[in-house]
Amino acid sequence: MFKGILIFKGDAGYRAEHENIDESVLPDGDVQVQVEWSTLNYKDALAITGKSPVVRRFPMIPGIDFSGTVTESSHPAWKAGDKVILNGWGVGETHCGGLAQVARVKGDWLVPLPQAFTTRQAMAIGTAGYTAMLCVLALERHGIQPADGEILVTGASGGVGSVAIALLAKLGYTVVASTGRLAESDYLKALGASVVIDRSELSAPGKPIGKERWAGVVDTVGSHTLANACATTKYRGAVAACGLAGGMDFPASVAPFILRGVTLYGIDSVMAPLAVRLQAWERLARDLDVTKLETMTRDISLSQAIGVAAELLLGQVRGRVVVDIAGS
Ligand code: NDP
Repeated sequence: MFKGILIFKGDAGYRAEHENIDESVLPDGDVQVQVEWSTLNYKDALAITGKSPVVRRFPMIPGIDFSGTVTESSHPAWKAGDKVILNGWGVGETHCGGLAQVARVKGDWLVPLPQAFTTRQAMAIGTAGYTAMLCVLALERHGIQPADGEILVTGASGGVGSVAIALLAKLGYTVVASTGRLAESDYLKALGASVVIDRSELSAPGKPIGKERWAGVVDTVGSHTLANACATTKYRGAVAACGLAGGMDFPASVAPFILRGVTLYGIDSVMAPLAVRLQAWERLARDLDVTKLETMTRDISLSQAIGVAAELLLGQVRGRVVVDIAGS
């Protein structure tokens, strides 16, 4: 038996419980990991609350990411004692996840813990931070340079937004943070934002095309915010879209794409190939200021995770939440 969160769906409805879990719940896998840290990402909050149909099999241990130590392995790449990270691959959705003391997964899904990070720091970054890095890499690959102008980050106080701001600022970009929480302006500026704007400037239905402002965009919000961001991106600029915190729709026109040559990059962290993951973690090790990471991170215990998941969906959580699994 080990401690964890288990989600059930049945006649009694949908519920998440913090309890002792029998090992028989764990699915097949060629690597077993003693989980040390996990996190609460937006998707974990959806899974725990049942607000969206994230979980596809029941009972399910949620948690789309974790870090820890390999205890058993029949996979050639891993041996007992190795420190590892896992992000995505349907873990916490179709395969039991990281919000429990033990995980059994496919060795092909794991990446080695970068030397620069502790297992806690890796999960302070978590899937949100790794996705922020994927967005930054997309803008870099597009050729956007700091001298090209402002980079907009939407959903700025959230996990992806906070890490994106810290990364972009360290790389020399001028960052404009869009937030619904102007009270967090000092926090966003300390992370590296030059300007903070109210998200209401972007969230209402807008024109098909507007005044050019952004050299690039990291969008975690979707819906009208993404449409307006595209409409105000400069000629040949790029938008990296990774989120739907404001809605899954995309009520836009083709005008920015065909009149301004704007490029819209879709960012997926879940099924990204290993080489992409390794590059993202290598760049996080190089380009993320761990002092800033601390300022955006809050530690909670496993028993607090269900309550904090609800807070996260209400937009009351700032930055990143790490879940201390080993200490729970
Ligand atoms: P968080 O909850 O930490 O952050 C989301 C932020 O979005 C909030 O802090 C808030 O920022 C803003 N927001 C919330 N609700 C609304 C709303 N109704 N309208 C406009 N803005 C809103 O989530 P994460 O940072 O973990 O994830 C952000 C998004 O990215 C999610 O949609 C998530 O599913 C997605 N994601 C996608 C991945 C991928 O692989 N494509 C991987 C990881 C995340 P503020 O208060 O500053 O306005």
